[in-house]
Amino acid sequence: MRGWPVPPLKPPTKTASQLAIERQLKVTALEAQGVLTSERIKAALLKVPREDFIPREYRDFAYEEVPLPLPGTAATISCPHSYPLFYEPLGLGLGHRFLEIGTGSGYGAAVAREVVGDSGQVTSIEIDALTHEFAKQNLERAGYADVVLVHGDGGRGYAPRAPYDRIAITAACPEVPPPLIAQLTLGGRIIAPLLQDSVQRLTVVTKRADTTDREVLCDVLYVRLQGQYGS
Ligand code: SAH
Repeated sequence: MRGWPVPPLKPPTKTASQLAIERQLKVTALEAQGVLTSERIKAALLKVPREDFIPREYRDFAYEEVPLPLPGTAATISCPHSYPLFYEPLGLGLGHRFLEIGTGSGYGAAVAREVVGDSGQVTSIEIDALTHEFAKQNLERAGYADVVLVHGDGGRGYAPRAPYDRIAITAACPEVPPPLIAQLTLGGRIIAPLLQDSVQRLTVVTKRADTTDREVLCDVLYVRLQGQYGS
């Protein structure tokens, strides 16, 4: 069972311009809540049409604060506020080499692609073949063909594009998988929902020479990480 309500399936009725207005209102609301503060992340959220990363039958709910089901066994597109919730404390910015674990819809990768700009790069790993294919189609259609999508176990990272300045793990795991720390630059950051008993604590991990610094931000609810480093 999922730990959150799923809206009913319905044929899409909203027009592109209605959805564009909803996108603008959502960004204003995220700023008012204080979760969205940086200009680059704001510009990215205004630009990427979230509705184009959602299955047709959930499209009308694109800007509601709910995660929505995706093709695949345990994939969801996270709710709108979770993107600034992750990317602001991660300090995602221009020129970063960014790695995402859990591509899902591809929306988080598209937003990150806008934030890091032409001098940065985005790589994203998805373990579910059907979800990976869905994200690939979404990103290509939306014009983000230079995001490198990998089908595999994200816990192992992706050495060919390492090192990474910033990593977002968008599935809950007991501990940050060691290969991801290894593939991070010194001073680089990882954000992840880390499981403590059954609670998920969104944590920023910063890599130092001999150790890692940790800052716990808040409790969240994500699907569980699968693969070698899952629980
Ligand atoms: N970031 C996504 C939301 C991801 S939901 C978005 O913006 O839409 C979490 C995703 O992590 C699911 O698609 C799930 O299949 C994937 N996942 C779970 N374990 C994984 C692993 N070990 N490696 C890669 N992806 C994984």
